[in-house]
Amino acid sequence: MNLEEFRNFTIQDYHALFARGELSPSALLEAFFQRIAEVDPLLHAFLFVNRENALEQARRLEKEWKDRDVYPPLWGIPVAVKDNICTLGIPTTCGSRILEGFVPPYNATVIERLERAGAIVIGKTNMDEFAMGSSTENSAFGPTRNPFDLNRVPGGSSGGSAAAVAAFETPVALGSDTGGSVRQPAAFCGIVGLRPTYGRVSRYGLVSFASSLDQIGPMARTVEDAIALFEVISGKDERDSTCAPYPPFSREEIPPQEDIRTMRIGLPREYFSEGVDPRIVKVITAVLRELEKEGLELVEVSLPHTDYALEAYYIVAPSEASSNLARYDGVLYGVRRGGDQGLQDMYFQTRSFGFGPEVKRRILLGTYSLSSGYYDAYYLKGMKVRTLVRRDFEEAFATCHLLVTPVSPVFPFFLGERTENPYEMYLADVFTIPSAMAGVPSIAVNCGYEDGLPVGMQIIAGPFQEGVLFALARFVERMLSLPLPFPKIGPERRS
Ligand code: GLN
Repeated sequence: MNLEEFRNFTIQDYHALFARGELSPSALLEAFFQRIAEVDPLLHAFLFVNRENALEQARRLEKEWKDRDVYPPLWGIPVAVKDNICTLGIPTTCGSRILEGFVPPYNATVIERLERAGAIVIGKTNMDEFAMGSSTENSAFGPTRNPFDLNRVPGGSSGGSAAAVAAFETPVALGSDTGGSVRQPAAFCGIVGLRPTYGRVSRYGLVSFASSLDQIGPMARTVEDAIALFEVISGKDERDSTCAPYPPFSREEIPPQEDIRTMRIGLPREYFSEGVDPRIVKVITAVLRELEKEGLELVEVSLPHTDYALEAYYIVAPSEASSNLARYDGVLYGVRRGGDQGLQDMYFQTRSFGFGPEVKRRILLGTYSLSSGYYDAYYLKGMKVRTLVRRDFEEAFATCHLLVTPVSPVFPFFLGERTENPYEMYLADVFTIPSAMAGVPSIAVNCGYEDGLPVGMQIIAGPFQEGVLFALARFVERMLSLPLPFPKIGPERRS
């Protein structure tokens, strides 16, 4: 089977072939496993390939659904899962040595829901350790490469999921987004990535980084497929008290195509400033002109606290991380080191061996800003800034339906280019952090290429307005009708 023939397929298209008996879930899986075998030695998007289990599950589905032609929404569809989402019986490392060898005894809620809808977990994807990073270079197991240029990063922290979808090693994937980790890698790899409203998707079974910010989101080749995944994974969950008590997202919430033309789109001044690569502004501006011709109204708006959001995030997120990561002490999970010298010695040796430098930096930073005497000066101040950032968005949404911005101020950078200076790395997320701090949903969609590298557009909506978000994202996708990626990946592309 030639997988390239499916490059423009959506889940619906696979289902049409299944229904006609022209394709089976096992044959589809085999094709993706073949692609993984060919390209992943160069890309390193996967930390674990779930071959045997997945094929067994496919055969089971085939037996159960033999004489039916109406399928559950994700029936037979392979899904790659970021390695910080717990999968029963399948290793979950979070890209960290400290969880090496950890096999969860339960499934995350999202995995349960995916499987109930007929999806098949094809493997676990590489990530920055504990989702801390923007390039996947912080993985303890080595970086992932960008399918469009193997010398460049795929973004992060969900870089493995993004690269796998872009290289067509899987049709869809899950990522997690704390400050941009779904949207920024999606943009760097030319695919679609959604960060849902905080609380719209259960975090049960997602390894916590910063609990007030973490959200699981779909990553896909088309807006259509992102919607299909989101319908399945969203909705209230008794096991996560921060999960909003609303029913799952339904595509009925998406306004009709004609309504888009009457929408008012805000362009935040702070996101089109000097710091942005002019080639990115050029691509996005061209798309905005097209939208204007279609009848949409564009207005300049201001989100005045944008500059402070990043700084506040790097207080709030490490603070929560320092508390969440206290549980990795060699007692309950993963690796254990030392102990001959007593308990303190075991903690010390386990944590100094198990955590990488970025994780240690955040634990130190977070512990400091939560400590008595500094709490008011740092953490509390950070939370106050967060409120101001949220209000910026509330005010903007009082005058417009959606906001459009670049996802990232820069193109995918070279491996090693930003690893020396953590602050440089943090800046890769300046445009994705504010909306995460505000808890509002946003989506990255590819809107063109420049010098062979994808450029992502970010659309931001008010809380629980994913329907409107999808409407514009789909409109842009249809208007541009860019070919879906099927990059040639071979050793000749690596210098
Ligand atoms: N790059 C940001 C960080 O390092 C965001 C990461 C994320 O969203 N998980 O914290």
